[in-house]
Amino acid sequence: MPPLMPPRRPTWSDGIEKPKRLRDVPRFVYLRIKGFFSRLGTIASIVWRSAPICLCFMLFFCLAEGFLPVIGAYISRDLLNAIAGMLGKELAAPMDALRPILFLLILQMLHSFFSKAIGRVNSVVIALAGEKVSNHIRIMIIEKAKEVDISSFDRPEFYEKLENANREAGMRPVGIIQAILRVASTVISAVSFIAVLFALSPFAPLVVIVAAIPSAILSYYYRQRNFHYIRRHSKERREMSYYSGLMVNKDQVKEIKLLGLGDTFVAKYKTVFGKYFAGLRHLIVKEGVSQILVSLLSTLVHGALFAYVAYHVVYHSAQIGDYSLYSGALTSIGGYVTTLVTSTAAIYEGTLFIDNMIAFMKEEPHVVCTLQEPAQAERGAVHTIEFQNVSFAYPGSDRTVLKDLSFKLSSGERTVLVGLNGAGKTTLVKLLTRLYDPTEGVILLDGRDVREYDVEEYHRMFGIIFQDFGKYAETVEENIRYGDVHTEKSDARIDKAIEDGDATFVETLPGGKQTPLTRMFYEDGLELSGGMWQKLSLARAFYREAEFLILDEPTAALDPLAEEEVFRRFYKLSEGKLALFVSHRLSGATLADRILVVGEGRVLENGTHLELMERKGHYYRLFSTQAIRYAEGMDGVRGFSETVESETV
Ligand code: ADP
Repeated sequence: MPPLMPPRRPTWSDGIEKPKRLRDVPRFVYLRIKGFFSRLGTIASIVWRSAPICLCFMLFFCLAEGFLPVIGAYISRDLLNAIAGMLGKELAAPMDALRPILFLLILQMLHSFFSKAIGRVNSVVIALAGEKVSNHIRIMIIEKAKEVDISSFDRPEFYEKLENANREAGMRPVGIIQAILRVASTVISAVSFIAVLFALSPFAPLVVIVAAIPSAILSYYYRQRNFHYIRRHSKERREMSYYSGLMVNKDQVKEIKLLGLGDTFVAKYKTVFGKYFAGLRHLIVKEGVSQILVSLLSTLVHGALFAYVAYHVVYHSAQIGDYSLYSGALTSIGGYVTTLVTSTAAIYEGTLFIDNMIAFMKEEPHVVCTLQEPAQAERGAVHTIEFQNVSFAYPGSDRTVLKDLSFKLSSGERTVLVGLNGAGKTTLVKLLTRLYDPTEGVILLDGRDVREYDVEEYHRMFGIIFQDFGKYAETVEENIRYGDVHTEKSDARIDKAIEDGDATFVETLPGGKQTPLTRMFYEDGLELSGGMWQKLSLARAFYREAEFLILDEPTAALDPLAEEEVFRRFYKLSEGKLALFVSHRLSGATLADRILVVGEGRVLENGTHLELMERKGHYYRLFSTQAIRYAEGMDGVRGFSETVESETV
């Protein structure tokens, strides 16, 4: 389950602290308005970059939708007046008299057609823009996730930002732009109708606008509360996606089925949703009820204004078409004010949410090269890696996992790193490969701080197999080639890697190297056994032609024979390289040029098998404890040593 969120400092919804004194208020308002427009700018730039043509169309439709209603109202007025003018009259030439009406009818039809057509085309454009923008944002998120440090994934607030950013990747940015354009077209229409109403009375538009203010205040208030609610309950939403994710996770589904955990997780999901929804429902219902009460006020005001329009038409000998124009203008302005309020409130709320995405995009990597001109490590040369007084605590944790570690590794040396579970072996590998930087001390590559090398270049020097190595739903060939995607694909290298990794089972597969793996995407995809995946991962590591080879307990799931085979290959192929083999089993240690025993975050012992056995310390005890298990295996190990030695000499 994701860890609990750390407490936050109280800030206003958009991260600006509330003013403590009255004289700070103008600055607070200025900052908020500035923040609002800066967020709008970011959204507009995202939409522009992902769908420029769609945005141009949307702008054009916005203008058209602004002017069309008032044009329609005038056509209706003229039509009504023309019809009313003919009522009860004797027509000498009916066709001539009807011509203006016919013309107005055609105009009305054209107006109606264009209004509908523009509406339809606009929805098509918005749907297209939505897809493009959300795809663009998803790519931005993936690119960001690729760039950030692995340590970011240890922080719950990073997950919160990631979850928020992912959620915003949907239709929200386009929704905001759409709402902004709707506001623009509504303003155009509203201003035109206000001008119409002005002819009736300068107060009429004012009264309509004032009557809409309470509803506007309510909308802003609830948008803000809604935003706060969703943000405060990010943990619950992450819990929901965690439980629903568990149920559809291929790797976990076996255990969930066998342990009968399905109902438990569904129940947990429902409980969290119930809690989350209860608060949200309360907010939604409260806003609905308040808005109904407020709308009573605006209905009364509108009723009074309609009565005034009727009075005006009757007592100022206006025509029936004018009644239609004025009353239509009144109704429209009322509607526009509502649209303006809801749209601007939605834009406001939307920009607050977009802030989450912007926050995610601001996540910066810290594992970077410290020099403008990165140091160069000579490929194929003899290398040394030295830990000098390295200490490390995971970000957000006070516990020092590695304490004051000092040791040196060199090319041509095969080192085994042993220690109990949780001793810090994998952490050491993560520091060595610069997935993390030490909290204290330095790691040197060929005498220079590893931070002075380009991070990607440095990573390229490592061929590594982690305990939880990747099993990609791609072809066998791609699974191997992923070991080195920076060079041209080479069939000869792939074949050699298959041989080196002892993955010759590939030849017996129905599609050979082109056999797709896993059933995730392919009907004929093959599910490999643990041992086969293991061999593929070895082949991938060997395909890389790396300077340093690291095996981080990938043998944990293998039987002793298979494990021995992995050791044998690794030892043979790592000849001349800097090789590190991490294991809590000691079967391979007897062969190593050097053994590092890690415990309680320190290097407890450093030496060869014989030296450490003679010392009768930690290694001796560890080895003796495993001796019973390896008692019969020792012959195997000895035999295995002989095989390797004879093969590597
Ligand atoms: P080993 O590989 O020797 O089994 P690890 O290096 O995986 O041990 O872990 C060493 C210690 O660091 C353990 O106590 C573990 O709980 C802790 N640890 C590992 N990963 C993290 C992490 N991402 N955040 C915080 N603590 C971690």
